[in-house]
Amino acid sequence: MSIKVTAVSKNYSSQKALDEVSFSAEKGQIIGFLGPNGAGKSTMMKILTGFVRPTSGAVFVDDIDVLQNPIAAQKNIGYLPEHNPLYAEMYVREYLHFQASLYKVGQREVENSIQKVGLESEAHKKINQLSKGFQQRVGLAAAIIHNPKVLILDEPTTGLDPNQLVEIRALIKALGKEKTVLFSTHIMQEVEAVCDRVIILQKGVILMDQTLLELHQNTKQLIEVTFDVQIEKSQFDQLKNKIFFENTHGNTWKIQFDSKNDMRSKIFDFAHENNFKILELNSQQKTLETLFREVTQSLHFHEN
Ligand code: ADP
Repeated sequence: MSIKVTAVSKNYSSQKALDEVSFSAEKGQIIGFLGPNGAGKSTMMKILTGFVRPTSGAVFVDDIDVLQNPIAAQKNIGYLPEHNPLYAEMYVREYLHFQASLYKVGQREVENSIQKVGLESEAHKKINQLSKGFQQRVGLAAAIIHNPKVLILDEPTTGLDPNQLVEIRALIKALGKEKTVLFSTHIMQEVEAVCDRVIILQKGVILMDQTLLELHQNTKQLIEVTFDVQIEKSQFDQLKNKIFFENTHGNTWKIQFDSKNDMRSKIFDFAHENNFKILELNSQQKTLETLFREVTQSLHFHEN
């Protein structure tokens, strides 16, 4: 197992940042770590990388106990902290050589990582001369310089412009082919674009942990359809797999299906068999964004 976190809790004096958090990850998975500010994401990442000790619980990275052997574990971990702290006055290559020396790797690894993150054209410049997107690449190059099996990236895309966002996402996806990646973000589309799995944390507790495949399979299809005539409720009996339907206005109905299949063709058949005409039809899948809001807000609801 690449990552194994068991019942990790962290208290900062009276502030409970993590409360019995458990999850594990197989090799080669890209996990999106979502949650409102203050949810405990950075704390979890710092614990995984051995920089912060949990109050209780166990953490293994590539089967090495991070609490017992942090130095050994760090050989398998690449970490890009929030706000990407870089030495702005250093040259890119100089900085990466410095990072390489910390991990006791050499010239070859520096050039490898420059090439992997696409920094060739900028590697001779000073870090403070680079755009934010290229600075993120320097942070990523530093994080992968020792070829770690696990990458922990704390909000790697914050502050990037739309083009840089696309580039860094593509880079994370490429790195995820050979590494396990855990990265935090506030952008739901990013998770949909890059991740295999999403973990939602709130107030130190995991609210949801699912693969994107499971998520898409579990999301219910909602169809809004307008027929040319008034239909009796009982006529809908013929439509299978519906879990909910209502007449919203006029001849317009909202129908929710519990099915992975695209139900639009079933509605078409239903209309055809009964000699109705469809004037309008809209199909909606629940987006991760609405799901996130539902999941995180239902907790507020229970608390109030
Ligand atoms: P996130 O990364 O999800 O925004 P954090 O892990 O930064 O969340 O913070 C989780 C909680 O722990 C917050 O309430 C935060 O104020 C608190 N916290 C984080 N670091 C410290 C610290 N060094 N000292 C005291 N409280 C902290």
